[in-house]
Amino acid sequence: MAESPAPAWTRRTHTCGELRRGHVGASVTLNGWVHRRRDQGGLIFLDLRDRYGITQVAVNRDQNAEAHAAAARLRAEYVAAVTGQVRARPAGTANPNLSTGEVELGEIERVEILAASKPPPFEITSGANVDESVRLTYRYLDLRRERMRWLTELRFDITRVMREFLWGRGFLELETPTLIKTTPEGARDFIVPSRHHPGQAYALPQSPQQLKQLLMVSGLDRYFQLARCYRDEDLRADRFAEFTQLDLEMAFVEREDVMGLIDDLYLDIVRRCSNKRLLHEQFPRITYAQALERFGTDKVDLRFGLELQDVSAQAGGRGFRVFDAVLADGGMVKAVVVPGAAGYSRRQVNALQDVVKTHGAAGLATIALHADGSVRSPLERFFGRQGLLDAAQAAGAGAGDLVCLVADQPATVNAALAALRAHLGAQLELTDPNVLAFCWVVDYPLFERDEESGRLTFTHNPFCSPSDDSFELLYTDPERAGSKQYDLACNGHEIGGGSVRAHRAKDLHRIYEVMGFSEAEIEEQIGHMLRAFEYGAPPHGGIAMGLERIAMILGDTANLRDVTVFPKNQAGVDLMLGAPSVMEGEQLEELGLELGGSTQTT
Ligand code: ASP
Repeated sequence: MAESPAPAWTRRTHTCGELRRGHVGASVTLNGWVHRRRDQGGLIFLDLRDRYGITQVAVNRDQNAEAHAAAARLRAEYVAAVTGQVRARPAGTANPNLSTGEVELGEIERVEILAASKPPPFEITSGANVDESVRLTYRYLDLRRERMRWLTELRFDITRVMREFLWGRGFLELETPTLIKTTPEGARDFIVPSRHHPGQAYALPQSPQQLKQLLMVSGLDRYFQLARCYRDEDLRADRFAEFTQLDLEMAFVEREDVMGLIDDLYLDIVRRCSNKRLLHEQFPRITYAQALERFGTDKVDLRFGLELQDVSAQAGGRGFRVFDAVLADGGMVKAVVVPGAAGYSRRQVNALQDVVKTHGAAGLATIALHADGSVRSPLERFFGRQGLLDAAQAAGAGAGDLVCLVADQPATVNAALAALRAHLGAQLELTDPNVLAFCWVVDYPLFERDEESGRLTFTHNPFCSPSDDSFELLYTDPERAGSKQYDLACNGHEIGGGSVRAHRAKDLHRIYEVMGFSEAEIEEQIGHMLRAFEYGAPPHGGIAMGLERIAMILGDTANLRDVTVFPKNQAGVDLMLGAPSVMEGEQLEELGLELGGSTQTT
């Protein structure tokens, strides 16, 4: 009979993170990976690692020559089984960094190699500074690293809290299909050609939006799902082609009901999954207009000040042509004050210039209020000393500060100064990662103008309801219509968003008309929704919360891939599996497809 690869005695009795002083004297068997091996001749020390921790094993030749010989054959990342006795480490040799650090395994009875390992392409013990493409190619090894394991467990912990919380509140956890019809969330669809219906394709959901609304029409009242979503967007560091959101919908609610539920859920998540401090226990709510005015963005970071100030009134009419032209053209001049920065060198000021320029502004004008009372600014010959002081005062600057001014159309000014504020927050170390500042942004406009087509389009979601006072405006002045959209921001990131929906067929139909869709297009895109809404659709609303984003914030990583077990790289390629891969021959024929771009690169 062939020898079993793992004899019965090798079954573990404990994990590598379990043994404590109370186990001293017990005979135990551990299984794990060789994390480190220190060969001191007659004595070999092994650090045996598994998901739960690391335990030190001391194998003494004099005490057991056979076990010692087996231990001598072990190398990094071999999988081994060891039976021995738990003993207290000699005084002064305890390792406070390990949960098992007060004990070790001695009096070794047996050592068995359960699996050998090639030398890993990078050290599991450190893993820092390894090229990310190598880590992604060998993701299964990368996940053995302590930090990655911790982040993976953190993501799981968050989903566990989400589930327990929502189960407890009477939500049904339901799965909606992933081969569906295109559903607009503002990105491109991934499509799946149908073999049975040549020339036709399914779309992967950008979100379960329409399906969850239809569940409300079904009367299921409270639904949630940890939904995989697919958006074929241009890849950016903080966007992913494939991601997970906590997607939920509720019937008979107003916006406060959904927001209040999320308040409670996120308080629960923060308390149970992290040691971070909440800036506000009751998440503040600000309007979209206020968010733009004060921060230039709805990705609000309330951890620090440096709010934007409108100084158009002080900056105009001083004979400075750039400002006057911008203001005459409907633009604005806004400022951010950098505290204590009056003495910034030209190089330091240029660095700030670069930030606003990469975000679309033509440049930055500065006013330096030196502590000795002198004022320096390239604007001096237009503004005069008093004019500069007036502008600086309107910006809220004091002695020693530097005022940074940007003039342009509002969207550009806000984008540039929002970026500058975020840059300064980090540079001046005002963004304590251990503090969480959640903030709701409400009262978004229902429509915005698409720059390319000039047409009105939805700001967030075409299914969003107009605000109570805006139903009339859909017919008279839709551009002014408000909405029942709400977004939750945390520390400068959007972490989720949702809305109360337009649940009456005629309102939804009108919204599509306003966006310029013909009757035929409306039928093609949302005919099924309009029909469903004719059969008693309850008022309803919901939200979707990004799972990766909250995991990143709680896990202190700026890299989305760190909180996903098998992510694609920034070019959308799975380096481990080699996807996407070339499709040819029969597979294509069956689907009736011809693919261009035969020079496929990965
Ligand atoms: N469907 C929206 C999204 O995926 C969220 C929602 O409105 O519920 O962003």
